[in-house]
Amino acid sequence: MGSRDSMKNIAVLGSTGSIGRSTLEIISHLKDSFQVVGLSAGRNKELLYKQINYFEPEIVSLSHEKDADELKKMTFSHKVKIRYGQEGAEEVAGYSKNDIIISAITGIKGLRPTIAAVRSGKRVGLANKESMVAAGALINKEASKSGAEIIPVDSEHSGVFQCLHKENLQDVNKVILTASGGPFFHLDQRDIKNQSVEDALNHPRWSMGKKISIDSATMMNKGLELIEAKWLFNLPPEKLDALIHPQSIVHSLVEMRDGSVLAQLSLTDMKIPIQFALTYPYRKESALPSLNLSEVGSLDFYEADLNKFPLLRLAFKALRKEQYFSIAFNASNESAVNAFLKREIHFSDIWELVIEVTEETNKMEVKTVEDILNLDQETREKIRDKIRRRY
Ligand code: MG
Repeated sequence: MGSRDSMKNIAVLGSTGSIGRSTLEIISHLKDSFQVVGLSAGRNKELLYKQINYFEPEIVSLSHEKDADELKKMTFSHKVKIRYGQEGAEEVAGYSKNDIIISAITGIKGLRPTIAAVRSGKRVGLANKESMVAAGALINKEASKSGAEIIPVDSEHSGVFQCLHKENLQDVNKVILTASGGPFFHLDQRDIKNQSVEDALNHPRWSMGKKISIDSATMMNKGLELIEAKWLFNLPPEKLDALIHPQSIVHSLVEMRDGSVLAQLSLTDMKIPIQFALTYPYRKESALPSLNLSEVGSLDFYEADLNKFPLLRLAFKALRKEQYFSIAFNASNESAVNAFLKREIHFSDIWELVIEVTEETNKMEVKTVEDILNLDQETREKIRDKIRRRY
């Protein structure tokens, strides 16, 4: 990765989302070390326009052609190349001048751009956990072919990565991801069922996008992260676990075979793991205040209740199943969460539908991106179908 002080070119996929905006804040804080060459966004052309003015990237992309045309008119005085669609995001991801690509599109629509980034053989800061869940084997294969270096951006995985930095994998007994427990951790099982969209979005610790906030409320997020960790760190299911830690200060724990437990602690702010993915193996000054543990006071830990959070239970099962199961698990969840956010279903319908559809999915071999996306699509249709029959 060059020297400590050489300038790096960054592409941010999902630049108008929560992780994307935090990444750009870090780049403006560390502007002597990093510059933006590419940005890809979904529909938020107004914010992308502001980002173009401020960061002057060479290439950008939006989801839709119509938005790209309007952006062209807005930026007529800039030299920026404007693309659109999946191909546009892939072009930004594979842009030859990139040194580091931050992959922060939410959901399976980040899969193709993530694979394009990995195929380019550069460093990929991975925040798009759904890609790893649905296509972990394929992404790892592509990375070993191209020489791409995948650095996790998810806070728990960044913590594990930092703990494992100088360790041998065979010395690891267990990797434990912590979970805040989300907004409903303290509620009884039956009181969780009918929570509203507003309550589910109201996360006690992290400020995040909508999809991941709902996933945190169902604890599906921790489930996805366990599967992500399996692929990122090449760990067997029996070495993975989750632990509730409401303060979200300890992000992960790694138990070594000699009884030592390593942990990574930091403020609850995604800018810390994002910055680490950019500067690794070096470290740079943070713009955030120091962690003050006497102010935090106590750090609590609880076992995760799998009866209360059945999607976490299903995730442990998914760890032991073949890839098809994780694809269906992820796709049914994305589809059900969308329906919940549109107020088409109740909160408890999310896990009822996801469990039903995932368990019904027939075992199949998955080899290519097309296989993955076809199964993803079929699974979503099954969810839509079940919702139509329910309501
Ligand atoms: Mg996380």
